[in-house]
Amino acid sequence: MYDYLIVGAGLFGSVFAHEASKRGKNCLVIDQREHVGGNIYTEEIEDIHVHKYGAHIFHTNNKHIWDYINQFAEFNRYTNAPVANYKGEIYNLPFNMNTFNKLWGVTTPEQAKQKIDQQRIAAKIENPTNLEEQAISLVGTDIYEKLIKGYTEKQWGRSAKQLPAFIIKRLPVRFTYDNNYFNDRYQGIPIGGYTAIIEKMLTGVDVKLNVDFFKERDQLEALADKVVFTGMIDQYFDYQFGVLDYRSLQFETQVLSTTDNFQGNAVVNYTDRETPYTRIIEHKHFEFGKQKHTVITREYPVEWADGLEPYYPINNDQNNAIYKQYKALANKKPTVLFGGRLATYKYYDMHQVIGEALATVNKEFE
Ligand code: FAD
Ligand code: UDP
Repeated sequence: MYDYLIVGAGLFGSVFAHEASKRGKNCLVIDQREHVGGNIYTEEIEDIHVHKYGAHIFHTNNKHIWDYINQFAEFNRYTNAPVANYKGEIYNLPFNMNTFNKLWGVTTPEQAKQKIDQQRIAAKIENPTNLEEQAISLVGTDIYEKLIKGYTEKQWGRSAKQLPAFIIKRLPVRFTYDNNYFNDRYQGIPIGGYTAIIEKMLTGVDVKLNVDFFKERDQLEALADKVVFTGMIDQYFDYQFGVLDYRSLQFETQVLSTTDNFQGNAVVNYTDRETPYTRIIEHKHFEFGKQKHTVITREYPVEWADGLEPYYPINNDQNNAIYKQYKALANKKPTVLFGGRLATYKYYDMHQVIGEALATVNKEFE
């Protein structure tokens, strides 16, 4: 009946479905959630687009990917500039001259570099092998202690010594007074929300929601020649090499009618260890909203367990070794295409997922 059964109506599944349909293929997209969009889903609450599964800011250096996503929405000129709240002290992020000045009183890049060098040398780190060493070698011990250690250990539920160094390299370190969280050329928030993008991608495609692939696997697989799978790869292979670790989140959303501006910024990170949440999002600020009320969401990290959403892969050596075994099995299944954050067990941002989906499309239809 179908050329492709696409498991997951997130960004990967939706880009693939759109491109395959454009090429005359018949696709059925299923998702176990009650809505499309996966983790980029936005929902209108009191006239504000609420990022239901955490703040999503689109950014890319790749003009092709920027042009691609702009077919489906117009983007505003939002630039992400989160602030960190450490026990009531406010610091600019990412780590830049504003941060260094507030922390040390330094006013020139030279002074800031000297301060960081002193701390790196005192910590005796030459070849960083984990997140803690990488962080100290980039920004020194003061910033590590106040802005990184507590946040990281809450977010990942593990010591920063047990986490891979690449995670902290997501954040720029700059010796200019520039609070832009990303280095990419293109950045913004889609006017109208992310869900509208996915709905446009899926126009004319059959979609069935509230369907768990694993509950009716045989019947579903019989519907199509090929499967595109964007769920958890370890679950797909019945956990035969062991369970991969993920981090989950709990979101607590509140509509506030007593104020129109709760925190003065879209994203405020709480970097101490004691506050149980990592960040508070105030959604209206992503779109410069002028509403008389506001909506905020607190983000509480928790360890993933069956029944929770697996938001983040935990790419330490042990999990990567398990993933490699699943990947080897996946390579032997030519009728199943694995893609997206969960099926490739990669800490992908949206632009990377689009890039990967388009590469899969090219390979499939070349
Ligand atoms: P998903 O969005 O996870 O979609 C997979 C879909 O498959 C889900 O809808 C799921 O319900 C469905 N599914 C899974 N298993 C089954 C099954 N058995 N049966 C049926 N359906 C199933 N990226 C950025 O670029 N900028 C950001 O600012 C940003 N912020 C983020 C903040 C948070 C808190 C998180 C978690 C991610 C963030 N990302 C950000 C990353 C972004 O969300 C992902 O790159 C992107 O959404 C991944 O798309 P995907 O299709 O791979 O996966
Ligand atoms: N991080 C931190 N302090 C911050 C922000 C980030 O220590 O105030 C670290 C933390 O380990 C986090 C990583 O940097 O997991 C990547 O941050 P990013 O903002 O990219 O995380 P995401 O938005 O993907 O959750």
